[in-house]
Amino acid sequence: MKIGFIGLGNMGTPMAQNLIKAGYHLQVYNRTISKADELDQSAITKCKTPAEAATDVEFVVTMLSEDEILKEAVSGEHGLLHTLPKGGVHISMSTISPETSQLLAGLHHLAGSHYIAAPVFGRPEAAAAKKLFVCTSGNTEAKERARPILEALGQSVTDFGGDVGGANVLKVAGNFMIIGAMEMMAEAFTLAEKNGLNRTDVANFFGATIFNAPIFHNYGKLIANKQYEPVGFKARLGLKDARLAVKLSQTSETPMPLATLAHNRLLTAVAKGGGDRDWVEAFGKGVTDDAGI
Ligand code: NAD
Repeated sequence: MKIGFIGLGNMGTPMAQNLIKAGYHLQVYNRTISKADELDQSAITKCKTPAEAATDVEFVVTMLSEDEILKEAVSGEHGLLHTLPKGGVHISMSTISPETSQLLAGLHHLAGSHYIAAPVFGRPEAAAAKKLFVCTSGNTEAKERARPILEALGQSVTDFGGDVGGANVLKVAGNFMIIGAMEMMAEAFTLAEKNGLNRTDVANFFGATIFNAPIFHNYGKLIANKQYEPVGFKARLGLKDARLAVKLSQTSETPMPLATLAHNRLLTAVAKGGGDRDWVEAFGKGVTDDAGI
């Protein structure tokens, strides 16, 4: 089956590779189309616009960086909304605000197509290993039709209801938990280091005992070892996610002092030129720098 795929960044490329492995032919669009050279050329058609990628398909997947860029790819001059056939489904997998999902779902509704939110948890390595956790929300029938595509991308698909912004709220809450955990680990490991302990031993102990969970294993190891490469998730995009959390906390009158603190940590890293470095570095190095080590 032929589907549209838009956005070949750190996440989109391994996701596209898995869809090809699952037998799909992809009509791909990316701002820099040479990124498509990494894909099996016999399984793709390169497109010049999002509209071209969504032509004559039942599904189009987007994995673009942020809200405004996604909106342009949907409803801009060359947007996919103009060509996605009636009844077609836009599977929107970026981390964006629930408001953007609601807006885009409304535009699709007017055009006779569907929009579902399907943000994911997992870094590019997890995407490559088909280990993403996919969260969905939106129109029930469209979600059911999209399920085989989502199952080809991850280890689980969990639904968060008919309100199309639901999965986006979940994703913003989850990334807030990750940045809160990174700040906490960076502070704890630095405290241990400054008081004579080996930070890797500290991380290993907690990861194996009272903090035995993937975030503490994976991010814990990177922070403990001060390992900030390769860049899996840019601090600039992490800042975007912290901003989404702060904004949602404001619009829903939910005080979140920790979100503000983590937002400032990322803002500082970006302001100092680290926007394209991994977000782990913003926390790991941010805390060790503050502590003078
Ligand atoms: P990336 O920066 O590697 O890729 C971004 C994509 O957006 C690319 O295809 C790029 O061409 C496109 N893009 C950026 N600016 C553009 C513009 N002005 N015009 C047209 N296209 C533009 O980002 P990524 O790490 O692949 O993340 C993609 C999405 O997935 C983001 O919403 C991110 O928050 C989310 N996400 C990332 C991770 C991760 O670990 N990397 C994990 C889960 C979710």
